[in-house]
Amino acid sequence: MSFPTSNFPASPDGAVVLLSGGLDSTVALADTLSRQPVACVLTFDYGQRAAKKELQATRAIADYYQLHHRVIALPWLSDLLPQALTPLQTLAEQGIQPKDALTEEALFDVNRVWVPNRNGLFLNIAACFAEALKANAIVFGANAEEGASFPDNTPEFRDQLNGVFAYSTLTGVRVETPVGHLNKQEIIQRGLELKVPFHLVWSCYEATDEQCGQCPSCIRVKNAQEQVQAQSGQKAGLGFMNG
Ligand SMILES: [Zn+2]
Repeated sequence: MSFPTSNFPASPDGAVVLLSGGLDSTVALADTLSRQPVACVLTFDYGQRAAKKELQATRAIADYYQLHHRVIALPWLSDLLPQALTPLQTLAEQGIQPKDALTEEALFDVNRVWVPNRNGLFLNIAACFAEALKANAIVFGANAEEGASFPDNTPEFRDQLNGVFAYSTLTGVRVETPVGHLNKQEIIQRGLELKVPFHLVWSCYEATDEQCGQCPSCIRVKNAQEQVQAQSGQKAGLGFMNG
C-alpha cells in the first residue's frame, strides 16, 4: 500500500511529530502545535509491552487535535527487544521467567532497556515522511531526564542527525526537541500552560486497564504531578490505578 501523500497537505512550515502517547511526546506535540502546523503524527508499533495501550492513547490524542495519524508497524524490531520491554505473555510463551523487572534501577540501566538504534530508526523513518510531505521539521519528545542516561535523547544526537539529514534528504529536514531541556515537572507545567489533554496520556510501561501507578515511568510521572500540584495547586489529571 502506498502512502497517500496526496491526501496530506504539503506543509513547508509544518512538522512530522513522533507520538508514543506518553507525557513527553504529547507535550512536545502540543508545544509544536502552538508554533507551527503539524503535517502528520507517527506512532511505532514494535511489539513493546504497552503497545496496545500506547496505540489507543495516540489515536485519542491525534483525534483530540484533529491530526493525521499514521501507525508504523515494525514487527521485526520485537525480536530485538530487551526482556524488560518484552510483553510478559510473549516471555511466558517462550518459557522465559522474566529476570528484568522494570525497577527504577533497570529503567536507567542502558544495557537492560536499550532497543538497538530505536530513536535513530524512528527519526530516519520520520525523515522519509517529512521529506515526502514537504514538512521542514521532525519533532520528538527527548527530555533532560532521559538525556542524562540515554545518548539518543541528547542535543548532541539531534544535532548529529541534522547533519545527516542535510545529506540524506533533499529538503534538509530538521529535528526539533521542544521539551529536550525540561525535566518531568517542567514538562507537566508546560503541558498545563498548553492545556494538554493529560487524561488521554499513557506513560505506563505495562498494559493494565489504567496506568499501573507502580512501574518506574508511572512513579516518575506521578511524583512530578504531585510536586506540581503542591507548588501550583494545579492538578494535571494524569490518571493512575487506585488514584
Ligand atoms: Zn505503570
